[in-house]
Amino acid sequence: MENNKFEVIVIGGGPAGMSAALVLGRSRIRTLVLNTENPRNNVTKHSHGFLTQDGKHPTDIFKEAKKQLNKYSSVEYRNEKAIDLIKIEDGFQVKTEFNAYKTKRVVVATGHRDNIESIGIDGLVEVYGKSVYPCPFCDGFEMADKKLAVIGDAVKAPMFSKVISHWSNDVIVFTNGDKVVDIELIKSLKSKNIEIIEDKIIKLHSLKGKLISIELDGGESVEREGGFLPDTKSQESTNFAHKMRIPSEEGRFGMSFYVIDENKETEVPGFYIVGDAQTGWSGVAVSVAEGSKVGSAITHQIIMEKWKN
Ligand SMILES: Cc1cc2nc3c(=O)[nH]c(=O)nc-3n(C[C@H](O)[C@H](O)[C@H](O)COP(=O)(O)OP(=O)(O)OC[C@H]3O[C@@H](n4cnc5c(N)ncnc54)[C@H](O)[C@@H]3O)c2cc1C
Repeated sequence: MENNKFEVIVIGGGPAGMSAALVLGRSRIRTLVLNTENPRNNVTKHSHGFLTQDGKHPTDIFKEAKKQLNKYSSVEYRNEKAIDLIKIEDGFQVKTEFNAYKTKRVVVATGHRDNIESIGIDGLVEVYGKSVYPCPFCDGFEMADKKLAVIGDAVKAPMFSKVISHWSNDVIVFTNGDKVVDIELIKSLKSKNIEIIEDKIIKLHSLKGKLISIELDGGESVEREGGFLPDTKSQESTNFAHKMRIPSEEGRFGMSFYVIDENKETEVPGFYIVGDAQTGWSGVAVSVAEGSKVGSAITHQIIMEKWKN
């Protein structure tokens, strides 16, 4: 069992987890990274907005991270899925399908999963991450000045279209059968030439992931080249924070976030959450920063503990 004991276990090896492991490795902290290698942005071909990596394929960024981590012998990387996390005396036990590991500190960096199928629009999965995206800061530049759709409910879609109109002056809101009741909002969108279409969507037509048109219930097809979703029905990839009863609060856009301190530590000592797992949406650069922050904070705590003993 000694071989299965680590100073830190990082669950999840996306930008947040790998960045935490890098700092821990450089600090010679015995660290285990468990990763199923399926980051949230795997559906897209280009990751944007992270300085020095702008436009790179998410898989290439991950491969480079794994290669760089390999240099640090105190970090063990395993392609294993954490299936359970149990609080034990003086730390945690992390179970995978084949192994059980012990640690005093655990970093949850397992991210969120989008659930596009559950939106229930035929053809949406095919375009998600290819011409229809969740985040204008990530992909708005590439979609600029195109014929854009904002697809969502009667509250979130009109609100989101205000943001999207910064990138294109040809934006149509599709509420898929939902009725917009906020008269002021309707007026406000009309004043900026943003049309609202409330018809049910029959199908999104596309070619190789590129949106071509949106077919409506009435038989009409509206030409569109791309679009954005205000709500991807995302859920946490793991229930570990919930299991540890970590309190959460309501954040921006109705997303909740877990309460952490400035070291990314929760009210359960030794239990940390970073990246999308903590916020619901951090983006790559912020996830890397949060991973870096937790890596150095944990190292500092370990050094001070050793100093006292
Ligand atoms: C279509 C799309 C496009 C995007 N484009 C951009 C962009 O251009 N720029 C940008 O900044 N952001 C973009 N994002 C957001 C970005 O993908 C996330 O914010 C970022 O990946 C969060 O990093 P993370 O490390 O927290 O989580 P993730 O990257 O999701 O990594 C989590 C990791 O944990 C692993 N994991 C999950 N459960 C377990 C388990 N039980 N055991 C072990 N491992 C587990 C997963 O396999 C994964 O490797 C995009 C997202 C989407 C959906």
